[in-house]
Amino acid sequence: MSDLATAEFLRGLPKIELHCHLEGSVPAATAIDLARRNGIVLPSMDATRLYEFGDLEGFLAVYQAVSRAMVSAADFATVTYESLADGVKSGNLRYREIAFNPTNHPDLTYPEMLAGITDGIEAAERDLGVTSRLIVAVNREQSPAVAADLLRTVLAHPSDYVVGIGLDHNEKDGPPEAFREAYEIAASGGLRRTAHAGERGNVAEIATSIDLLGVTRVDHGYAVLGHADLLQRSIDSGIHFATCWGTALFHCGGDPAASPIGAMIDRGLDVSISSDDPPCFGTDIGNEYMRAGAQLGWSESAAEARVLSSVEATFLDDVDRAALRDRLRVELAAFGSGTAPGEQPR
Ligand SMILES: [Zn+2]
Repeated sequence: MSDLATAEFLRGLPKIELHCHLEGSVPAATAIDLARRNGIVLPSMDATRLYEFGDLEGFLAVYQAVSRAMVSAADFATVTYESLADGVKSGNLRYREIAFNPTNHPDLTYPEMLAGITDGIEAAERDLGVTSRLIVAVNREQSPAVAADLLRTVLAHPSDYVVGIGLDHNEKDGPPEAFREAYEIAASGGLRRTAHAGERGNVAEIATSIDLLGVTRVDHGYAVLGHADLLQRSIDSGIHFATCWGTALFHCGGDPAASPIGAMIDRGLDVSISSDDPPCFGTDIGNEYMRAGAQLGWSESAAEARVLSSVEATFLDDVDRAALRDRLRVELAAFGSGTAPGEQPR
């Protein structure tokens, strides 16, 4: 295929994503609109400048400010719907596991924000056919006691949409072992476990997250490449790495050739591609696949393998995962033949 045809293929390929933050998915214009309406001042009230930052700390400051601009269930519904609609439009998103940070929103109760997000998810499924589940994310810059309280609240308000726990924000603060209690509470309630670890070089975090927190998925995890034993153990035990092309580049000076993701795939790790915080980093899920595919020289089947690998790493139960797998196989086959599911192949 020509480069153009390959790019079109990668953008249009039906996709699953496992690593995308709700509060990092707010289009700049929407964030400013919410802030104005709710009387919140963002670092910039200019949509063309809001997501300008020089380092991860700068990004997290904007992320926190945008989080504060979401003050009602309706705000959560709007952001959820817009984010999913962008995924569908930009990259034919079919299923997403959305992480959100309840403790970043002190103005709302957990049930209130969950109700808003659920409204957004259900409207997006109805209008666009994209399905979603939720990951409650622990902000590691806050205390372990806050995290444990959060998980108790989550278990007290069960939802079919909430399938997992995550750990995010600055990995220089709050080591994973500090959040063991929160993860134990999550496990006792049947929640699946992931954590951001090894994004900025700390390989010990990955091992701790696996051994102490019981994660079966690692968000980012690039540092695993520097530790042969852990790498092999991750392969042997089927640990999944939910990587993000754009934000990984942020940590290697923007040089695609220096991205660790290709090497992770080549070494035999189970790897998916997600968009992380798409508008904040000027990307979307279609663009993530296009850039990864261009740099790594993906064939059609190599790109499809990333999608199918994502399905197996979802936190769905066996029945729902099988249904998603079946649906994706039909959609991938139809996409590859140029026909919509249910149509006769050309
Ligand atoms: Zn992330």
